[in-house]
Amino acid sequence: MNRERLKKLASEKRLIPGIYNYCDRWCERCPQTSRCLNFPISEEEFSDPEAQDIRNEAFWNKLSGILGETLELLRKSAKEWGIELEMLGSIDDIENIKAKDVAAENHLLCRAAKRYGEWVEDWFRGRETLFFETAAAAREGVSLEEAIEVIRWHQYFICAKVMRAIQGNIEEGEERCDEFASDSDGSAKIALIAIDRSVAAWAVIQHYFTDCDKEMIHVIAFLDGLRQAVDETFPNARSFIRPGFDEIDPNR
Ligand code: SF4
Repeated sequence: MNRERLKKLASEKRLIPGIYNYCDRWCERCPQTSRCLNFPISEEEFSDPEAQDIRNEAFWNKLSGILGETLELLRKSAKEWGIELEMLGSIDDIENIKAKDVAAENHLLCRAAKRYGEWVEDWFRGRETLFFETAAAAREGVSLEEAIEVIRWHQYFICAKVMRAIQGNIEEGEERCDEFASDSDGSAKIALIAIDRSVAAWAVIQHYFTDCDKEMIHVIAFLDGLRQAVDETFPNARSFIRPGFDEIDPNR
């Protein structure tokens, strides 16, 4: 997509600015695709089945093309706003960012969310075929297939969003105002939504696989503990209004 097309698209009134910042990136299941700038960009750039193959050279070329366009647009906008991009990347800044990344990675919540992602991987390995066979047999009822999809989709997403929330919290530091929800609350909220959905999906699986009960109770309890910890760390997260998802849009 060229720069002019991108600018034209970005100026369309139907789009909700920043809606893609607090979603779960599951565009196939998103009720807001028509209001999201990210959706037509992805559709246009990656609609070619060959380009969807991440091993395909065309995919990476396309991605680097998007990066080039984006950087060019960024430089142009920065010039218009009088921002010197070179000043933003000093060694001190980079060291600072690295230190914050390490602090976030070592945070208990991030480690717990990461552990959950790995646990799901171990648990599904070797069981997936059995699951999909059972799902196919049980298609007429609660969808086991969908429950698996939900867990797999959010497996690493939870950690990514908890991490972003923790990083945001560190960056906001003392400037943070507890009376108002902040960007880190937005990230925590989408992590909490992903946890809630995953817990519900595990409950569906538990219904079908009673012989794995003990392990599933363990994972549900683990997720529930993570949910409580995120809720306690980010008490404003649940009340964060995600543009397009939690508010009534007057343009609709
Ligand atoms: S808001 Fe919806 S369409 Fe846009 S990136 Fe998120 S999931 Fe995809």
